[in-house]
Amino acid sequence: MDTGRASSGAGALSGDGRQRIGASTRIVALLGDPVGHSLSPLLHNAAFAEQELDLVYLACAVEVERLGAAMDGLWALGARGANVTIPHKRGALMHAVEATPTARALGAANTLVRTESGWQADNTDVAGYLAPLEPHRQRLAGAPVVVFGAGGAARAVAYGSSIGLGAAAVTVVARRPAQAEALAADLDAATGGTELRVSTPGDAADHVREAALVVNATPLGMGDGRTPWPVASDFREGQIVYDLVYRPARTPLLQIAGSQGATSIGGLPMLLGQAADAYRQWTGRDFPHAVARAAALTALGQDP
Ligand code: NAP
Repeated sequence: MDTGRASSGAGALSGDGRQRIGASTRIVALLGDPVGHSLSPLLHNAAFAEQELDLVYLACAVEVERLGAAMDGLWALGARGANVTIPHKRGALMHAVEATPTARALGAANTLVRTESGWQADNTDVAGYLAPLEPHRQRLAGAPVVVFGAGGAARAVAYGSSIGLGAAAVTVVARRPAQAEALAADLDAATGGTELRVSTPGDAADHVREAALVVNATPLGMGDGRTPWPVASDFREGQIVYDLVYRPARTPLLQIAGSQGATSIGGLPMLLGQAADAYRQWTGRDFPHAVARAAALTALGQDP
């Protein structure tokens, strides 16, 4: 694979290791609306510079009705790859010429990889979700999981818990039961050995107490001081509590879980994990994790 490494003369890099854009530089883009909050340009440009790749990552706000034109245009321009985010995750899957089983199962894409004939859609949120759970895989095998939220991230959590962890059951807790039921119905065929259950925040505590892994896939806790359900003495040692929110690093949920002896995982490892999986597919290289993490922590104003 052509990894896009800067060639001498055409170079997109200077001797100080900082990225420089030249005639040979290829594009990787984020397509979404809005995109101004995204950390992806920062992570990927830091990684490209670290590995001296002749690539640049740009965030592009694209209206829903222009997604097809934007994807075709990017491919025609020779772009190496793309990420897609809200509101295009489903549309990008529809417009791609190929899709991985993961993207098909979730009904949504977050990554586009260039092929000879167009874009292949993938969803690296599943790999990102599973990345920080790798050291705990043995104790989570066949265990019950609870996920709060029933949106796109919760789909990745439910699917990943089934395919990657072999969860015995995943309970989807949502304030709108119909949304949780739709998630369970859509993923039922793809999560064969895992029972998908639905519940509401008012009934969540019993499910939480019996779960080995509890995941927050709602925005609750992102600067609002809230938890996804009225948390009491629901945690114990041996449990893992995973909050996909990464701003702040320690959400109220993680603070309470930690104080009751549970292992806590924040959202930054997932953000880095999904970026790493996309990066590997675009460049053929391993993601320079430490460099990207440091860039993210600086941007988030968090301690390394
Ligand atoms: P989404 O598709 O909009 O889904 C959000 C879910 O949370 C929905 O079920 C929504 O229910 C529920 N929700 C929202 N506000 C709520 C509230 N006040 N009370 C109860 N439930 C509420 O969003 P998403 O893409 O799944 O993302 C969910 C969260 O995960 C976000 O905070 C996002 O930043 C985070 N995330 C992190 C990563 C990472 O890499 N760390 C990756 C993806 C997502 P309604 O539909 O009823 O509003």
